Amino acid sequence: KKKIAVMTSGGDAPGMNPAVRAVVRAGIYYGCDVFAVYEGYEGLVKGGDLLKPIGWEDVRSYLSLGGTAIGTARCAEFRERAGRLQGAYNMIVNGIDALIVCGGDGSLTGADLFRSEWPSLVDELVSSGRLTAKQVEPYRHLTIVGLVGSIDNDMSSTDATIGAYSSLARITEMVDYLDATAQSHSRAFVVEVMGRHCGWLGLMAGVATGADYIFIPERPPPADQWASELKKVCSRHREKGRRQTTVIIAEGAIDNQLNPITAENVKDVLVDLGLDTRITTLGHVQRGGTAVAYDRLLATQQGVDAVRAVLELTPTDPSPMIGIAENKVVRRPLMEAVKLTKEVAKSIDARDFDRAMQLRDSTFAE
Ligand code: ATP
Repeated sequence: KKKIAVMTSGGDAPGMNPAVRAVVRAGIYYGCDVFAVYEGYEGLVKGGDLLKPIGWEDVRSYLSLGGTAIGTARCAEFRERAGRLQGAYNMIVNGIDALIVCGGDGSLTGADLFRSEWPSLVDELVSSGRLTAKQVEPYRHLTIVGLVGSIDNDMSSTDATIGAYSSLARITEMVDYLDATAQSHSRAFVVEVMGRHCGWLGLMAGVATGADYIFIPERPPPADQWASELKKVCSRHREKGRRQTTVIIAEGAIDNQLNPITAENVKDVLVDLGLDTRITTLGHVQRGGTAVAYDRLLATQQGVDAVRAVLELTPTDPSPMIGIAENKVVRRPLMEAVKLTKEVAKSIDARDFDRAMQLRDSTFAE
């Protein structure tokens, strides 16, 4: 009987619980024993109560539960071989040889490294006398399947990561609230949104709310021009009769090493225009709350496919990442997706950016 472990790792994202539910129930449906690893890789390293069987009933109400109920953590020990050796030991003594990880690119890289090292880890467990050759015999190969859980939508090879649309919906709702009060007082708001190195959340929220201006890391504005450009655009919108000004700034634009633009910098420019300006950092509300329907569907379909992949993969197949492309669940080589993510980042169509800007007034152009 196949024993599969499921884990959430890295930053939490709405939809992780539905993903765990899908893995648990599909696993049971296909005749497997399913284990939950609590607290991300920490659970693998520590074992004991952090690595235990999970049943059909245990994931009841997970569909509408935000965050991740089995916990997540950043685990420094797993970055070291000694931590991974202990993880291999804990898996083998529990009879587990397949791991489904829902997390970001770091978590998935760790999972693939674990798999590539697995044979040597097993050998070491035998040579050091911790396990016998007979004990490890059925566990010579480790199967890894990745599900991408991240609010940032920053993974290549999939159209959407689990959690991104929930976070986008929350940001959109929050900006709508700010717009209402901004309009009442004819104020300006600089709204800081999450996304780390990826501007997807900032850009899409800007399009969805009709923001006056959007700063994203994929399009760093020229250092000597952005302030005058921002002034020009916001004044034009005001002249057209707009009573509020909303500028969205993605955290990746702030962290940009070459040309960091902070919310304070943007505020100074708007104040200079004579606007009563406030900064709102949305913060962790962007990660919280229940998943939108799309993320629940994505997590459910992908979680089921992750289990099927575990059952179908042969030892020579590369570890897959379950993604979505053109509304179809797809399997892509995990490390290729990670590599692409690092090389080109998630592609953002610059035309989306332009259209978002131009719809505010009459300068819309192809
Ligand atoms: P997020 O996108 O939310 O940051 P992430 O999965 O990229 O998610 P990381 O902090 O990079 O988040 O990774 C989560 C955990 O995965 C780490 O704390 C560590 O335990 C493990 N991990 C990450 N990278 C590696 C690696 N190269 N080798 C081994 N383990 C790793």
